[in-house]
Amino acid sequence: MYDESRDIYDRALSVLPGGVNSAVRAAPQPYPVFAQKGDGGHVIDADGNRYIDWIQGLGPLLYGHDLPDPVTAAVQRRVSEGPVFGMPTELEVEHAEFVTRHVPSVEMLRFVNSGTEATVSAVRLARAVTERNKIVIMQGGYHGAQESTLVEGGPEHPKPSTHGIPQSFAQETIPVPFNDTETAKQVFEEHGDEIAGVLVEPIQANSGIAYPENGYHETLAQLCEDAGALLIWDEVITGFRIGGLGCAQSEFGIDPDITTFGKIIGGGFPVGAIGGKTEYIEQFTPSGEVFQAGTFSGHPAAMAAGLEGLKYAAENDVYEHIDDLGRRLREGLTEILTERAPEYTVVGTGSIFKVAFTRADAPPQSDCCVNGCRQDPECARFSACPKRGTDAQQMETDRYARLFRPAMRDEGVLVSQNQFEANFVSYAHTEEDVERTLDAYRDCL
Ligand SMILES: *Cc1c(COP(=O)(O)O)cnc(C)c1O
Repeated sequence: MYDESRDIYDRALSVLPGGVNSAVRAAPQPYPVFAQKGDGGHVIDADGNRYIDWIQGLGPLLYGHDLPDPVTAAVQRRVSEGPVFGMPTELEVEHAEFVTRHVPSVEMLRFVNSGTEATVSAVRLARAVTERNKIVIMQGGYHGAQESTLVEGGPEHPKPSTHGIPQSFAQETIPVPFNDTETAKQVFEEHGDEIAGVLVEPIQANSGIAYPENGYHETLAQLCEDAGALLIWDEVITGFRIGGLGCAQSEFGIDPDITTFGKIIGGGFPVGAIGGKTEYIEQFTPSGEVFQAGTFSGHPAAMAAGLEGLKYAAENDVYEHIDDLGRRLREGLTEILTERAPEYTVVGTGSIFKVAFTRADAPPQSDCCVNGCRQDPECARFSACPKRGTDAQQMETDRYARLFRPAMRDEGVLVSQNQFEANFVSYAHTEEDVERTLDAYRDCL
C-alpha cells in the first residue's frame, strides 16, 4: 500500500540526510509517505493513496493545495515574466503596503526568504538598536534553525540545543518558561540592562499548542518597555491565521516593536519578513547600519502568491470558514476524548487544533472547556493542562508516533508528523472532511 513511498525513501536515504530536507518530515513511522500532488484539502501520495491533509505544508497553506484562481493566475504571470531580477519590483511595494495597512504594529517591513531568516534579522536588529546582546526566548518555542534561539536550559544555564552552536553563543540567550511571569520578572531584574529583546510566539504552536494565560503577554510587553528592550513577536505561524488579517497581535491587543512573518505571507512559496516600527526597521541597510540582504528576497512568485492570497482573504469568508471548522473539530474531539481518553487534552484556537497526548489526572475536559484549552483559571483542569511548549515533552510521544499516527494514516487522515506540531485547517477543507476525521480519531484513539 505504501510500496512506492518505501522505494523512494530507500533511494532518499542514500542522497539526503535522513531521507529528507527538513527533519520533521522523517518523523512518521515507519517511514514517511511521499507527496505526489495536492487536491484541495487532500493530498495524494506516490502510491496514489488519498488523505485528508491536516499538515498543510506545516502552516503556509490558507487555501489547501489548490490556490484560488486569481492567486494561480498572478503566480503564473510572474513566473512567465522572469523568475528574479536583482532589481526592485512594484509587487514588493504593493505587498508591503497591504501588510502595513492590516497589521496594527507594522509600519514598514523587509521581506526575506524564510521564517528563520526573519528571526535571525530581527535578533540582529534588536541587538543593534539597543546595543545589548541578550535575547530572552521561551523554552519549547521555535524560531527556526538559527544560532540565537536553538538554546535550551534555564536562565542560569543556557546551552545549545543542537551540536554545532558554541556555548559562548548560547550564553547570550536567556530561555524562560512560557506563561511564567515570575521568572520573566526575575530575569529582567537581574539582566534588564543587558536584554536586547524578548522573542516570543503569541501562541506556542510548534510544541504545544500552548495558549497564553491572561495577562502574560501584557507583562512581557511592560517588562520590555521598562527595560528599554524590544518586544519581538514571532508571528511566522500565527500571522494571517490567528486574528485574521490583523494577525494574533490584533486578537491579543499587543503592540510589538518588531514582528516576524513567514508561512502564509508567501502563500505557499518560500518567504519571511521582519516588520515593525519605522524607527527600528529603517535601521536595516541601506537606510541604516544593520546589514541585511538576500538574492531572492521579495521573490516575485512568493510576493504574488502572498499578496493575492491575502487580498482574496480580505474579500471572502476565509477566516470564518477555517475558524468554524477548527471549532467543530475541537468540539468533536473534546466529546470523543471524554469517552475514550479523558487524560488527553484538546488544544488549539481558530484554525489550529491538536489532541495533546497528556497524562492529565483531572476531570475530563468537556466539563470545563469545550473548545480547546484557553488557560481559564476557573477550569477544573487548569493545573493539569499544558501551559508551555516544554509540557509536550512529557506527553505520550511514542503512543502518538508508533500507534496513533500510523493508524490515522491507514484511515486516510494525515495529522501532524509528531506530537509537537500543530494541525491546520484550510479554506479547502469541508464539513465532510471534519466528520471523517472525527470518525478516524474515534477509531484510532
Ligand atoms: C515555521 C516557523 C519558523 C521558521 O520558519 P522557516 O520558514 O521554517 O524558516 C519560525 N518561527 C515560527 C513561530 C515558526 O512557526
